[in-house]
Amino acid sequence: MATDIVPELLENIQRDFNTAISRNGKLQSIQAMIEKGTATYKQANEYAVEVGEILAQTFKVHIKSDVLPDGKMYYNIAERILNPTLSNNHIIVARVSAEIQGNLNRSVGLGLKGIAPAVNQFRVDSIINRVVAEEVFDDVAWILQEPIVNFTQSIVDDTIKTNVEFQGESGLSPRIMRSAHGHPPCDWCRSMEGVYKYPDVPEDVYKRHDRCRCTVEYDPGDVRRQNIWTKEWSG
Ligand SMILES: [Zn+2]
Repeated sequence: MATDIVPELLENIQRDFNTAISRNGKLQSIQAMIEKGTATYKQANEYAVEVGEILAQTFKVHIKSDVLPDGKMYYNIAERILNPTLSNNHIIVARVSAEIQGNLNRSVGLGLKGIAPAVNQFRVDSIINRVVAEEVFDDVAWILQEPIVNFTQSIVDDTIKTNVEFQGESGLSPRIMRSAHGHPPCDWCRSMEGVYKYPDVPEDVYKRHDRCRCTVEYDPGDVRRQNIWTKEWSG
């Protein structure tokens, strides 16, 4: 019986990932902004891109056809490598995004905690299923690159969605601002630019294609007026 490569491979990936995260200056400066209360979702997205790129880079170093049995990414390997590492990206980025959301809430006098979204297991599973679909791993190695960054960015977008829906259902009028970035931004990203007020938020506002660096930001709306409004209602 062949030896199980997963425990050592996973350990090496996690070790190198953690080292790269702890030494990353950009992540540290964003963390400092969060502690000062000056970070917005722009920083959350930068944070996610950085964490996604670090994991993608770690995969590139450690996962290659020549370390895999028959050069193929078998399901039982993919599942045991990608579930823990992608869940870990989720935990890191959801925590940072929820902290930023909490700061934004406080800055306008809203006494609401930022809510972290649940892990999108459907997206994790679809990455696993795509990477096991080919006979030779090197032919699909690209799936463990930009799509990993895209997955990690989606954690920020899911945080905005979760908080906007929660606030909207609580009677507030949060808004979402999306602006296109890129060289140059594609037609689709340009068409998605704008300010959307809950509940008129198309689902596509929270979507992005690979290499999309558009920013999606939360705006509490006119909270002061809304607070007076809710006070009148409750009092
Ligand atoms: Zn875009």
